[in-house]
Amino acid sequence: MIRVIAFDADDTLWHNEIHFRSTEAAFRELLRPYHDEAWIDARLFETEMRNLRRYGYGIKAFMLSMIETALELTEGRITGPEIQRILELGQDMLARPVELLPHASDCLRALSGRCRLWLLTKGDLLDQESKLARSGLGDHFEEVVVVSEKDETTYRDVLDRRGVPPAEFLMVGNSVKSDILPVLALGGHALQVPYPETWIHERVEGELPRFPVLEHLGLLPAWLETP
Ligand SMILES: [Mg+2]
Repeated sequence: MIRVIAFDADDTLWHNEIHFRSTEAAFRELLRPYHDEAWIDARLFETEMRNLRRYGYGIKAFMLSMIETALELTEGRITGPEIQRILELGQDMLARPVELLPHASDCLRALSGRCRLWLLTKGDLLDQESKLARSGLGDHFEEVVVVSEKDETTYRDVLDRRGVPPAEFLMVGNSVKSDILPVLALGGHALQVPYPETWIHERVEGELPRFPVLEHLGLLPAWLETP
């Protein structure tokens, strides 16, 4: 019996990854006079991974990683106006309107009152709270939990603190690595709604356990009714 449904936010309720992809393209363009594109991409990703433990996930961390990569790749020759441009790229991302994914709103409305609904996301607290406010979806959630990593330990802690047994918990999200595998490992339920773009860091390889996959959130209320 599922009593609590937690939704991931980025690329589950609203678009996110495509904005990172388009900012990466602009960053590549900016550094093109200095290096070839594949090299720029690889070094930016390396810097992001190196900085994850320092800065966590989110746009602000991404901005710092872009600046650091630009300094490294140009051996300090990047100019003030170019650094300014990088800051603007990040600021544009922070201010972007939130674009909901299809059926996100209908799905939450349909489930309101039927189950306890949580938003469970990782990333930067201020940015996630601001996106939730702009999404207009805030009223559907009993709880909004922003964590710095979505692994087994975090999920166990979130559930324990709220006295929710894993068997009564369903996580819904796009990322197999962050939304599905750690929850299944705890004995909880997890359902994937895939998003067309997956960040390299979220990709998983090898054999996976079985889990349900729905094409879009509009199918979730009916799925919950199926025995
Ligand atoms: Mg996500």
